[in-house]
This record gives sequence, structure tokens and C-alpha cells, in this order.
Amino acid sequence: MHDRYAVIGNPIGHSKSPQIQGLFAKAAGLEIDYTAIEGPLGAFVATVDAFRANGGRGMNVTAPFKLDAFAYATERSERAQLAGAVNALKFEGERVFAENFDGVGLVRDVVHNLARPLAGKRVLLLGAGGAARGALLPFLQQQPASLFIANRSIDKAVKLAAEVKGQGPVTGGGYAALADQAFDIVFNATSASLRGEVPPVPYTAFAPGALAYELVYGKGLTPFLRLARNTGVQHLADGVGMFAEQAAEAFAWWKGVRPDTRDVIRQLTVPLV
Ligand code: NDP
Repeated sequence: MHDRYAVIGNPIGHSKSPQIQGLFAKAAGLEIDYTAIEGPLGAFVATVDAFRANGGRGMNVTAPFKLDAFAYATERSERAQLAGAVNALKFEGERVFAENFDGVGLVRDVVHNLARPLAGKRVLLLGAGGAARGALLPFLQQQPASLFIANRSIDKAVKLAAEVKGQGPVTGGGYAALADQAFDIVFNATSASLRGEVPPVPYTAFAPGALAYELVYGKGLTPFLRLARNTGVQHLADGVGMFAEQAAEAFAWWKGVRPDTRDVIRQLTVPLV
């Protein structure tokens, strides 16, 4: 029997993870058995216990189970601890290792795939939820000139910035504080686009030559990307590369081989029009 892996979420029908992990395994010449599990709500522990009992070696974890996975783990990486959420698990006997690769995947996409270094740049992060939390440490490790976290619930942004203030030049606040500031890279880590909404970011927030990056992927020109384009921003990206890169990080963590993501990104890319 091949090593067993799975993605767990609810709903899970839309998940591209089995396709992606299958492509990674094929490219690496490895055989893995990777399935999608629709975890019943309120039964995360029982579902994962059963998967492990049947030979499960690791899991990708998606909504709404990232906090359950955090609680289930016996050992959590520093970035998983800061994110307070987990998107990948590895099982070794009684030990359950937990990681959060969303932030490193995002940084890898921006710095490597899009060739936009964060070092020395003014970075704006919209949102203070799980994805934003996961991005903080990886962002600060790139040594940006500044990192501003803007959130609708201002207290969450201020608190998040305070948690990592020893790690770099980070501040948090509300959207009103953006009035007189311009940024080289603006990340939309809110979930506004999923409901056809747009965070109230002023057009002046985009510095000349800025990159506007939407974490949501596969939705084409989201309201945030449309706003950026309408203000003259020419460099637009969605989160397809982030998704592929976090998947590659998990694969490498499990199998010890770092897959090439280019084919996967090409297959999943939806034009931003
Ligand atoms: P959370 O639910 O944890 O956080 C949502 C955030 O969005 C909060 O900061 C919330 O603000 C803010 N928000 C929601 N609606 C609005 C609005 N209309 N205007 C302004 N702010 C708003 O979500 P996640 O952090 O887990 O995910 C955020 C996004 O990132 C999702 O769209 C998800 O699809 C995407 N994502 C993409 C990944 C990828 O691989 N490409 C991986 C992970 C996430 P408040 O605190 O005030 O409620």
C-alpha cells in the first residue's frame, strides 16, 4: 500500500489539492494515495483518528478545520503558533506535527515567481484573519521597510502588530490611517472578494509601480483587483501561486522532495480580466 495523504475540509468538493499533490508525486516519480475527505462538522478528531488508524501519514487542512488541527497537534511550528491556525499535519506514531505554510507559500510566490522582493519595500496587508496572521512572520523575515496591517475591526490589527513588534517595523490600524500613505505592495488578505465586496482601501495607497495581490484565487478580476486596476495599477496577481507553493511546501515536508510548481500554476491560472 502507498503512503496515504488527504485534504480535509467542509465542503471539500471544490478542492484542487488531490490534483495538485498527484501532479507533484508524478513529477517526483513517487506513488502516493491522496484523497479528499469531507469532515463532518464537530467530528474532526474522530475523522482524523480514523484516517491515521488506516495508515494516514499527513493531511492538508482547509476551512473550517484550521483551528481544530491546531488543537489536535502535539507539536506546532513557530509560524503555526503565531498564526493560531494549521494548514498541514504530519503523523509519526503518536506524534502529530503541525505547520502553517500559507505565509511561506505567499512569500515564495511574490519573491520567486513574481520576482517582487519584499526587502526594503513598503508593504500593506489588508485583513487580520488567519491568512494575514500566517503571513506576518514570513513577511517580516524578508525585511520590508515597513509593514502596515489594516483591518475593519481595528483592534484586531493593532493587537496583531503588537504581537510581532519585536520582529520588525510593523504597525496596525484602521483604513482611515491609510489616507496619507503609499505602498509598494498591497496584499488583500480579507475575505471581502468572496462576497463581491471590496475593503475600503484608498486609491492613493498604491504607489507608482505597485503590485496588487489578491489572496483569493481562481475568481478572475475580483473587486479589489478591479479597484487597483482602475487606479492605474499594472501589476496584478491572485493567490493561485500562493496556493501551489503552500502545497509544494507540504509535499516537501512529507516526502523530502521540493516539487516544481510551474505546471500546476499554469493549469490552475484563471486570467485576471
Ligand atoms: P478570516 O475569516 O480569518 O478573516 C477574514 C478577514 O477579512 C478579516 O480580517 C475581516 O475583517 C476581513 N473582511 C471580511 N469582509 C470584509 C469587508 N467587506 N471589508 C473589509 N474587511 C473584510 O479569513 P482568512 O484569513 O482565512 O482568509 C482570507 C482570504 O484569504 C480568503 O478569501 C481566502 O480565500 C484567502 N486565502 C487564500 C489562500 C491561498 O492559498 N491562495 C490560503 C488562505 C486563505 P474583520 O476582522 O473586521 O471581520
